[in-house]
Amino acid sequence: MFIDEFIHFVLSVAIGLVVGKLTGNFWAVPLAIASGFFLDADHLIDYFIHRGWKFNINDFFSGKHFDDSGKVYVFFHGFEFAIILIVLSLIFPNLGWLFFSLGFANLFHLFYDTFCNGAVWPTYFLTFRIAKNFDHKKLWIKNEK
Ligand SMILES: [Zn+2]
Repeated sequence: MFIDEFIHFVLSVAIGLVVGKLTGNFWAVPLAIASGFFLDADHLIDYFIHRGWKFNINDFFSGKHFDDSGKVYVFFHGFEFAIILIVLSLIFPNLGWLFFSLGFANLFHLFYDTFCNGAVWPTYFLTFRIAKNFDHKKLWIKNEK
């Protein structure tokens, strides 16, 4: 999981730098990091729902709580959000640095998760997870890292 987070961070910085270079506003970098790296903070919500308030970092990074609970919420992981942000960048081109950085960092995070976590391809659509009642067995080909 640490290598995955490292890759999310590097991808986010790269996207922020590209958007910053193209738009002339390098606030795109921290926004891309927020959207593409700190997105995984929603795993904490799942962890606390499944395990209560006691926190064990090794248990958290093992992802075993997904198996134990049988549910995968990760509420902020959703291609819908990335699509909305990118559409907003087209509606408000003067705010492209904001919405492109948030949208594309989010999008690439979800592409990475889809291809590297063994998910059934639409798993990272929030609406798909809702339709599957967040059931871990219906969303994953193998267990998430
Ligand atoms: Zn993720």
